Amino acid sequence: MDKIIRKVAIIGTGILGTQIALMAAHYGCVVRAYDPKEKSLDRILGFLKARMENARRKTLPPFVDLAATARKVRLCADLAEAVQEADLVIEAVPENIELKRKIFAQIDSLAPREAILATNSSSIPVSRMESATSRPEKCLNIHFYSPDLGRNIVDIMGGSRTTSETLEAGKNWILSIGCVPLPVKKELLGFCFNRIWRAIKRESLHMWAGGYVDFKDIDRGYMIWNSVSQGPFALMDQVGLDVVYGIEMVYYNESQDPKDLPPQALKEMIDRNELGVKTGKGFYTYPNPEYKNPEFLFRAPLKQ
Ligand code: NAD
Repeated sequence: MDKIIRKVAIIGTGILGTQIALMAAHYGCVVRAYDPKEKSLDRILGFLKARMENARRKTLPPFVDLAATARKVRLCADLAEAVQEADLVIEAVPENIELKRKIFAQIDSLAPREAILATNSSSIPVSRMESATSRPEKCLNIHFYSPDLGRNIVDIMGGSRTTSETLEAGKNWILSIGCVPLPVKKELLGFCFNRIWRAIKRESLHMWAGGYVDFKDIDRGYMIWNSVSQGPFALMDQVGLDVVYGIEMVYYNESQDPKDLPPQALKEMIDRNELGVKTGKGFYTYPNPEYKNPEFLFRAPLKQ
């Protein structure tokens, strides 16, 4: 019979861990969470509230009443308490392979033998973490985006020995918490949708840095074509240009293909502390970036 996941432990209640905990709790999972920073979840709830107000997107049910959903998450004093009864443990600690391997090894020694261990890493395939555990057949990448912004898609990918039962259980759990699984059939750096977004980013950055097209025109085209409120450059400003650069370097280090090297002009912006929304200046200037102006997309027809 298929394994049913009901008890979930989230390790690290930062931006993503908190959101995963809220999604799971809202849809009826028994959720425990652990973060060495005790106030982490409360701090992130404040951040999410502000971000959702600004985003003006359709809000997913778990975020309608943040405080009530958050009360369903049991915050634990240590890792052992968080994982001791779990069917599924998801780590969402900072993107550092040594730290993630250490956490995977600790979880492996504390969680029930049957529990599935997943990482929310944005770039590290679970095949590089599974050997820290004694259960590689139960290890998964389960990569969320930002549910608070209405992005309820989740990449799911196995490691070198993950069984089809584990993948199936992961996929069913993702569906059970109101999300859409995007399974990756063979290991691929960047998973499914991350890689699509990354291709758009890479192309946009090179078109801009090579002096071919004004970045605002790339955003205009993208916004009109996709009927969305932000183009690639506005989105990169939101993520943080230092983070974007770091991710591009992960792909370059893997491929060593010069086409994957992020442009020098991006590096120069970072050196000038133009990191996007968080420093008030990136491709646009904040808090009132030009792309939010209705005239950004529409100009009166020229007089004949
Ligand atoms: P974050 O910095 O907001 O949160 C990380 C949390 O982990 C912090 O609260 C920190 O206190 C906690 N932590 C550190 N050491 C720990 C330990 N030993 N045990 C338990 N908790 C510990 O980071 P984030 O943005 O939520 O990212 C977490 C993971 O999710 C990363 O792997 C990242 O690549 C991935 N991710 C992030 C995003 C995003 O948009 N931020 C999107 C998808 C995936």
